[in-house]
Amino acid sequence: MSEMTSWQERDVEHIWHPCSQMKDYETLPPIVVDHGKGVWLYDITGKKYLDIISSWWANLLGHSNEKINEAIKEQLDKLEHVIFANFTHKPAITLAEKLVEILPKGLNKIHFNDNGSAAIECALKMCFQYYLQTGKPKKKYFMCLTEGYHGETIGALSVGAVDLYTKLYAPMMMKTFPIEAPDCYRCPYAENRDNCSAHCIERAKKVFEEKADETCALILELLLQGSAVMRIYPPIYLKKIRELCDKYDVKLIADEIATGFGRTGKMFACNHADISPDVVCLSKGLTGGYMPMSATCVTDEIYDAFYADYNEGKAFLHSHTYAGNPLGCAAALAVQKILREDNILEKARENAAYLTERMEAAFLPHKNVGEVRHIGLVHAVEIVADKETKVSLDGKKRTGYAIYKRALSKGLLLRPLGDVLYFNPPLVISKDELDFAIKTMKEAMDEIL
Ligand SMILES: *Cc1c(COP(=O)(O)O)cnc(C)c1O
Repeated sequence: MSEMTSWQERDVEHIWHPCSQMKDYETLPPIVVDHGKGVWLYDITGKKYLDIISSWWANLLGHSNEKINEAIKEQLDKLEHVIFANFTHKPAITLAEKLVEILPKGLNKIHFNDNGSAAIECALKMCFQYYLQTGKPKKKYFMCLTEGYHGETIGALSVGAVDLYTKLYAPMMMKTFPIEAPDCYRCPYAENRDNCSAHCIERAKKVFEEKADETCALILELLLQGSAVMRIYPPIYLKKIRELCDKYDVKLIADEIATGFGRTGKMFACNHADISPDVVCLSKGLTGGYMPMSATCVTDEIYDAFYADYNEGKAFLHSHTYAGNPLGCAAALAVQKILREDNILEKARENAAYLTERMEAAFLPHKNVGEVRHIGLVHAVEIVADKETKVSLDGKKRTGYAIYKRALSKGLLLRPLGDVLYFNPPLVISKDELDFAIKTMKEAMDEIL
């Protein structure tokens, strides 16, 4: 063990952390955070870290945001939680109205839950049950994109395809029809994101032709396949997916858990393609990264297929204890108010353009940088062994992880995805803070590579 403080020792004594090889904690013990403010986290020794990944893409408007804090405190003195079957409360009602107002047209019904994976499970079960109850029971499987990520529960894992998370559990999973995802950095059709005509939609067409009869829904992440090393594809692909879903009577489930609420420069990623999905899953930024909460938003058409006398057995009997939690709703309402009143998206777009320019200047010349890709404030740098051939580094060397550790020692929290390093900062980050992040990441990279 390296030097650990007593809090760190007590942590590893009993805590099994998420998405971690716990043995790594021998050389990199957990950082004990005392408090956060804005984009900064402060540990118990007083050292500060720039949270350039929004604490796993959730924190939208900075840590300890005064307006969100106030909203939660006010709600706390009234009602912390209540059963959500046959009971309701003003924050949930107001939030549902707000979501319907900002979502693409037609998504009029909101099913609240308490985490992203649960929102996905709901979406899958709803689409399956929709066809069962509208006389098409053969439509019971799902199409999904390779390299997709939709959460960690078994249903959500089944429609995901990032090997790192799914391979091991293959025997536990349900059957799906995978479609090879767009891979714009290594596009086999020699197109690029700006001149793309979505050639690769042909792979989707083939799967639709063969499998649409057995498919209830296609699920995908919109424009940004986050866990698949921040792959970014253009809106034209989404437009064509929507057309295929319409043509073949397949529901479109949009996983906007990571992309919702301004991450891509617009309120939702589907706004870039001007499409309206049949189901939209939201979480992460929904509460500004404060409270575990999610929403599965659906069309009236889907909702209506469940609306009948109780004895017909058509109800959606899916529940989570903390569904519609009032504290989460209060936080989410505060987030909406801030986004609107403080013009957050406009400012974030301006800073995104600044960040693109600075990152390209800082990283593109590096001999090991294959691509700097971006959407909204999300910026990713793919490190490769060879710029020309785009061959990856040897994964076993864990270069990304080494850079992460080095950056951490310099006060930048930069969690890598393999050998892809990325920024996905709170939308309120300043230009100075972005400059600090670039400078620190560059130093860390230069020391490792
Ligand atoms: C984080 C994430 C999920 C899962 O949400 P959890 O709250 O972690 O269960 C699903 N889909 C996408 C795209 C995500 O980024």
